[in-house]
Amino acid sequence: MYTIKRSEKRRIERRKRIQRSRDRHRTLCSVCTILAAGMLILLSFMTKSVLAATGRPEMTAGTDKMEGNETAAQEAYPEAERAEQGTGTADAGTKRSEEETRKKEEQESEPGAGEEEGEALLIAVDAGHGGMDSGCLGKGVTEGEINLQIAFLVKQKLEEKGFRVMMPRQNDEFLSKEERVELANSYQADAYVSIHQNTYEGSDKSVSGIETWYDGADKSRDNRRLAQLIHRETLGCSGARERGLIDSAELYVVSKTLMPACLIETGFLSNPQECADLSASAYQERIAEGIAEGIYQYFYLEEAEVSYQEAFF
Ligand SMILES: [Zn+2]
Repeated sequence: MYTIKRSEKRRIERRKRIQRSRDRHRTLCSVCTILAAGMLILLSFMTKSVLAATGRPEMTAGTDKMEGNETAAQEAYPEAERAEQGTGTADAGTKRSEEETRKKEEQESEPGAGEEEGEALLIAVDAGHGGMDSGCLGKGVTEGEINLQIAFLVKQKLEEKGFRVMMPRQNDEFLSKEERVELANSYQADAYVSIHQNTYEGSDKSVSGIETWYDGADKSRDNRRLAQLIHRETLGCSGARERGLIDSAELYVVSKTLMPACLIETGFLSNPQECADLSASAYQERIAEGIAEGIYQYFYLEEAEVSYQEAFF
């Protein structure tokens, strides 16, 4: 619960910082404009006063008066030019300040930017099964090893996007579901994703595709949005068949974690073609990129809302 609030708080604080920076910039621009206009009025008034004091326009009549006006204009011109130059400098200053503000805003919207070192968002990437629990079996491969290979790729891609990553399982070792949840919760991860492979028990070897599970009943966490974005992006990157988003509190790891969580079944090892794909690093990369991109969009694209229908291609 604490973790969700913390991550929400960060997002709100980041938005506020950007807003404050924009407000400051707007105020600065208004002040500059008012000052520049004030300076011009003052200079023109001073020029008129000086000319009136010397009385030059009045000394001559007719054409001289015109000349006097021209002289006044000529004399006033350098002032006006200087004033213009001044305004020009102010404009350049404003442009520089705009550029700086834009750069700062860009930096602030990058993951981990503006945070204290070590304060980048932490994602728990959990490779399902392992050790004595190999999970389902494909031709020459176990689910546990494919889960771990994909999890390492997800870690790498998330780190490239500026996240920190913790993996409850990093080797071919057994870890209970309770230990996995305990680890993610104690690390106060900001999001949790569990990686699994599927199998079809029947004789139909053609069953294939991606399923993503989440606990929609727990309204204290934004599980559905995380699941939708990961599901959509992974389907998009892999081109795999869409099998559905499944709202269920049945799976311990997605229902007992305290942060937004989901479990993705990235394919069927019972399907010979999909099993071959899932064993190949090129396809694993595409799956991993989709998962990492879904997580990125969850945290950094406020507008990346997807409806249940939209998740189906
Ligand atoms: Zn599994």
